[in-house]
Amino acid sequence: MPSILRHEKYFTDYSPSFDAYHHPYWEHWRKRSPIGMDQCADCLALGNCGGGCAYAADKAHANIMALDDIFCTFSKKVITFLVQDLVKNMRDRQTASAENTAPVPASIA
Ligand code: SF4
Repeated sequence: MPSILRHEKYFTDYSPSFDAYHHPYWEHWRKRSPIGMDQCADCLALGNCGGGCAYAADKAHANIMALDDIFCTFSKKVITFLVQDLVKNMRDRQTASAENTAPVPASIA
């Protein structure tokens, strides 16, 4: 596996005049966040995903702004599970609470 270290596509040489706000690589990479990616705009996982690995996206799609497909699938499945689990727990608590406040049936009182 070729190393990404020192690859000019991913790293810049140090220079005393380096300016991260105006370097083209940094300007491009700074935009790689699900918040700024069109394909993520309506995603349920937008708030917790983080966007996955830029290198994986670049390897698969030759574009760091593409999705990291494996991480994307994982993130969506995790957030779906967490929301479903939260709803289930809330329903279970409501049911338990309702059972605890219901009048005791005469047959067992
Ligand atoms: S799960 Fe996929 S589509 Fe959703 S925010 Fe993350 S990278 Fe974007």
